[in-house]
Amino acid sequence: MSFSIAIVGRPNVGKSTLFNRLVGKRLALVDDTPGVTRDLREGEGRLGDLRFTVIDTAGLENETDDSLPARMRRLTERGVDMADICLFLIDARVGILPDDEIFAEILRKRAKHVILAANKAEGAAADAGVIEAWSLGLGEPIRLSAEHGEGLNDLYSQLLPLA
Ligand code: GDP
Ligand code: MG
Repeated sequence: MSFSIAIVGRPNVGKSTLFNRLVGKRLALVDDTPGVTRDLREGEGRLGDLRFTVIDTAGLENETDDSLPARMRRLTERGVDMADICLFLIDARVGILPDDEIFAEILRKRAKHVILAANKAEGAAADAGVIEAWSLGLGEPIRLSAEHGEGLNDLYSQLLPLA
């Protein structure tokens, strides 16, 4: 059975880093045309024996207009509607910001399944942010480090029953 995961969250939390880690070089759709904003990037993800489609809400980071919240919302809703599972990242080093709460609200209303992950969680500097993530009302956050590849076992454990 194949399933799809949308990685969502505000800019700079590590979505693309996680996407790259899960997809590696197996990128399905590549559009490197300069100046073209790619709103959603899709790839073939792997974690252990699991195979799935991953959707990265890329492109937002390059937006220069000031309507970011509305665009962010639309893009997230598209990703959420496309995917079986939403992997919601927060930055454990920064803690919970108002934008994170907006995402949490969208996900609570709209997503089929949500997995919450506190990223950048390597080291003690992230401890407070991981605890704070409980306040989003989305259950226990996975302690993740997309950059260092930590917490992927916990991610696997949460994905397995949904696969
Ligand atoms: P996106 O905007 O959500 O796609 O975030 P990116 O994947 O572009 O990452 C934003 C920044 O966070 C980059 O400088 C990454 O190297 C950094 N980053 C991503 N994951 C981690 C992590 O697990 N730990 C730390 N310390 N930095 C990370
Ligand atoms: Mg990105």
